[in-house]
Parts: sequence; C-alpha cells; structure tokens
Amino acid sequence: MSIDTTPSIKRLDTTVVNRIAAGEIIHRPANALKELIENSLDAGSTQIQVVAKEGGLKLLQIQDNGHGIKKDDLGIVCERFTTSKLKKFEDLSKIVTYGFRGEALASISHVAHVTISTKTKDSKCAYKAMYADGKLTPPRPGQTADPKPCAGNDGTQITAEDLFYNIPTRRKALRSPSEEYNRVLDIVSRYAIHNSGVSFSCKKQGSMKAEVQTTSGASVIDNIRQIHGSSVSSELIYGERTFDSLDFKMQCYISNANYSVKRTTLLLFINNRSVDSMGIKRMIENVYSSLLPKGGHPFVYLSIEIKPENVDVNVHPTKQEVHFLNEEWTINSIQEVFKELLENANSSRTFYTQS
Ligand code: ADP
Ligand code: MG
Repeated sequence: MSIDTTPSIKRLDTTVVNRIAAGEIIHRPANALKELIENSLDAGSTQIQVVAKEGGLKLLQIQDNGHGIKKDDLGIVCERFTTSKLKKFEDLSKIVTYGFRGEALASISHVAHVTISTKTKDSKCAYKAMYADGKLTPPRPGQTADPKPCAGNDGTQITAEDLFYNIPTRRKALRSPSEEYNRVLDIVSRYAIHNSGVSFSCKKQGSMKAEVQTTSGASVIDNIRQIHGSSVSSELIYGERTFDSLDFKMQCYISNANYSVKRTTLLLFINNRSVDSMGIKRMIENVYSSLLPKGGHPFVYLSIEIKPENVDVNVHPTKQEVHFLNEEWTINSIQEVFKELLENANSSRTFYTQS
C-alpha cells in the first residue's frame, strides 16, 4: 500500500482572498491616500484636508467638502465593486472620473479600520459608520453597526487607522514613518499643483503647521512656487498643444536651461490621474541631456488629456505605470513640443542678453 502524498487543494477563506487582493492595490499609506483624494475630487470638493499620524500608518484622515454619501449607501460603500461612477460594462473605457473600479474603499477596509462620517446637502445631520473587511462593523461589541447620526459639515471625512494591522509582514516592511510621510506629502503636493482651484492641506496630527498648504484662488504656477520654491517657479516655460488626429491635448510647465538640479521632478497627469510613464521619463532625460550641465536635471509638470481608449492603465494593479496605445507617436509628439519650447526660450534669452 502506498501513501498518497499529493497535497490536496483547498479553497482559501474569502476574507484572506480579499486581504491579499487589497494588498496588491494598497502597498503603503500614500497609495490609500491617492485613492481617497481622487474620490474627494470626484465628489466635487474645493477643500481637501489631510492629517496623518506616524506617516499615515497609525492614522490617515481626509476631510472634504464634496457632495457626500447618502445615508442609504453607507451600508454598501465599502463593498467590492460598488461605485456611483459606472453603470454598465461599456462605461469602463469611457469613464472620465478618476477611480472607476469601485475597489478603493473596499481594499482599504480590508487592510485598515475605516470610519466614514458624511453629510449630503439635503440631510439634516451627518452620519458616521465604521467598517472592517468591506462591511459595516459595530464601534464596540454589543452595539449595532448601523450608521449613527452625528454633527458634521457638508462633505465627507474618511479615516483609515492601523494600516496593515492584519498583514504583519507588510506592516513590518514599512518601518519608517518619516519616509511614509514624505510619500504622503508627495501625493498631496502633486494633486494640489494639478488641481488649482481646490485648496489642499496636509499636516501631522496634533500639529499646528501644515507641511503643504495651498489656497483655492491660486494658479498652477502659484502652487508650484508654494511647494517647490521660487527657484523653480521663476524658471518655467508654459506650453500647450492639441493634436486633433488622436484626440490628444497637453499642457505643461517645464524648466528652462537656467534650472538644473540633481534629480528630475516629473509631475505627470493623464486624464487628471497622477501616473508614471517610463517612456516619458526617458524622453525628458533625453531632451535635457544636451541642454543642462552634466548630472543636471529638470522640473517638468505635464498634464495630458487623451481618449481613455488610447491609454492602458492595466499594466499594474495600482494603475501607477501607464502605457500609450500609440506610445512612440504620442511620446515623439510631446518631445517635439518640449524641444520647440526650449529652443524658443533659449533664443529669446540670447536676444535679451545681447540687447
Ligand atoms: P470608485 O471611486 O471607483 O467608485 P471607491 O471604492 O473609491 O470606488 O468609492 C466607492 C463609492 O463611494 C464612490 O463611487 C462614491 O460614490 C463614494 N465615495 C467615496 N468617497 C467619497 C467622497 N469623498 N465623497 C463622496 N462620495 C464618495
Ligand atoms: Mg475611487
């Protein structure tokens, strides 16, 4: 008689499956914050305030003045694939708002303790609810999980506490709160610059001073000055271009030849989402390599609006790195605009010093 040593296959518990899936999307506080900021912007907010404790690992809180969430929706808002932004499959490629997966809040609730307080304009009071693993959960054992009426302004406050409390390995890998806080600040800064017209702030819990603070009347360039300083903002060239053939529009502020620093800053937005593109990064390094002293790098803010069908965001679950459908054509077109802007700036500078 031989003993069967082949391991048998077992189905993982759904809570574990959801937690693993959530961990693919949410790697650190800054990923969670990005999703939360995009939700606040989708809700039409003009004021977004972020508070973090221990770099967002202990607490990450975002308060907005957007349209709020209806009380009746609070029961399902943290479930997977629940969204107010997508009704049928075809919408998926057309949708212009930032988040379109209905997965962000669900994911966060699988890896943190989530509390939502929200008030719509029509409601007399705000409602507060707590979530764990996608579902409403009682604040204390023995209490009901139903949303509770409370005082509050129009808009939504979302708090995520003890990130990765249930994934100790992930939690241990993120040891430095100050490094995480820098990433949080980086995300807030990017969205603050891109969304002139919306005031942003970000500070540590209990602190009087915000590390990032913009006002709603400020322009993109005001926000760049506010966050990156006037040594950058005074050396920027503005450009915009529409390419009708591919329904593609770009706007940029790029530094001129006077500005040179150790590392490239690239603030890239595609359809109003902060993303990375290796192709664009490489093109920028290339364009500036002949212009700046050896080891010198530029500052580039670039916002692209493009038919969603022409950009592939599904390279990675976090949707951070994107590819273009016509990658070469698209990046070459942007490169031509950059070169033109830099050449014009250069010749007017020469002209100025000669006169
Ligand atoms: P998605 O943004 O893809 O719809 P999310 O999980 O990020 O999915 O959010 C689920 C839903 O919760 C949204 O569709 C929206 O209706 C609501 N929601 C989330 N955050 C906010 C907010 N700050 N203000 C108003 N509604 C919100
Ligand atoms: Mg979203």
